[in-house]
Amino acid sequence: MGKRAGDLRRELRRLVNEQVPEHFLGAFTDDPADLATAQQFCRTLAERNLLCLAWPEEFGGGAASVWEQTVVREEMWAHHEPRGAQYMGVNWVGPIIMRHGTAEQQRTHLPPIAAGEVIWCQGFSEPEAGSDLASLRTTARPDGAGGWSVSGQKIWTSYATMAQWCFLLARTSRGEKKQQGLTIFLVPMDDPAITVRPIRTMLGPHHLNEVFFDDLRVTGADVLGTVDQGWSIVQDVMSFERVGIARYARCERLLAAAPTVLGPRWEVLPAELRGRWIRMLTHCRRARLLAYRVVTLQSSGRITPGDASAYRIAVTKLDQDSAEVLMDIAAEVGHDDHRARWFLGEVEDHWRYSQASTVSSGSIEMQRILLSRSMLAAGGGR
Ligand SMILES: Cc1cc2nc3c(=O)[nH]c(=O)nc-3n(C[C@H](O)[C@H](O)[C@H](O)COP(=O)(O)OP(=O)(O)OC[C@H]3O[C@@H](n4cnc5c(N)ncnc54)[C@H](O)[C@@H]3O)c2cc1C
Repeated sequence: MGKRAGDLRRELRRLVNEQVPEHFLGAFTDDPADLATAQQFCRTLAERNLLCLAWPEEFGGGAASVWEQTVVREEMWAHHEPRGAQYMGVNWVGPIIMRHGTAEQQRTHLPPIAAGEVIWCQGFSEPEAGSDLASLRTTARPDGAGGWSVSGQKIWTSYATMAQWCFLLARTSRGEKKQQGLTIFLVPMDDPAITVRPIRTMLGPHHLNEVFFDDLRVTGADVLGTVDQGWSIVQDVMSFERVGIARYARCERLLAAAPTVLGPRWEVLPAELRGRWIRMLTHCRRARLLAYRVVTLQSSGRITPGDASAYRIAVTKLDQDSAEVLMDIAAEVGHDDHRARWFLGEVEDHWRYSQASTVSSGSIEMQRILLSRSMLAAGGGR
């Protein structure tokens, strides 16, 4: 990464220091001030053209390189994603609408995402259709007036209580294969035909939800791409989504902070624990390099599902393994000062969040299957 990336990193850290409270652990806590912090921080980034830095200028972006976008991802995740739920709009909803949307859809949806003003949710998973997504049962039936009536249920929908729009996958017809006959609809969440029920989890409030659709009326203008051809867009979404979060950056930041937080106690930590700590730092570097490889392949259009999966396996395992090491280190924090409290809060949050990392955006078992298939197809399995 060039000089511009270094300057950018410094600028982002300065903005985080100035505008995000030190105790901030993400937008989705019991304290409404955290959500307000994220909303304000999005506006700050948008005003400086840092929110959608790598988007093309015609869509309100800064036309920066993918490497600069990578710096943004790293700094944001390292500091508990102060963009809140809006990161999804920047990372994949916007780019997907640029690729597949009509001019009208681009005019409607891209400026509010670029301004940090709108939250999207992803209506893919259903109670019997997570890993096997194409088995979903939410159905859009022709309404006789040129549109459709959508009914069904989604689950694990992040941010649905606060989202204004839903990126919805529904069945419009039955083909030979279950991947055929699926369609993406862009639907407003304030429609009375949509009901959201929060699910209590250890990820905190406002995060996971069930979403029910009861005769939701949609038209051709709400369809993204081609009717019945939604599966190819889903594949596109996954390739953006699976590299969109730089989990290694937070692991590295917390691991690097441990020696100074422990002070003199660091020197007397069991050698075994310090050995695990060093191994985790090495794994952070490995995940970072795999992420950079994926960014390179993605920007040259040569990425395969196996490349994104290899990164996801490394980074989600790192998330969980480093959380265990950090918990063991946190147990050794002996004093009760400001820095110790900061560290304990961060580590506890990191541990809770890491538990879901090998499930969201496709479970680690499914990633292993995708990677194996891709290696076998390339002849690497021999
Ligand atoms: C924090 C979080 C946020 C999420 N946000 C969203 C969201 O915003 N929108 C959305 O649509 N979804 C979301 N999800 C859902 C997520 O995509 C699914 O949980 C995931 O795809 C797994 O599906 P499932 O939960 O139905 O588990 P299942 O598919 O039932 O899998 C259960 C277990 O069986 C294993 N398994 C399943 N099939 C196979 C197989 N063929 N071979 C080997 N093992 C298998 C899985 O690996 C897993 O360990 C979120 C999930 C989490 C945890």
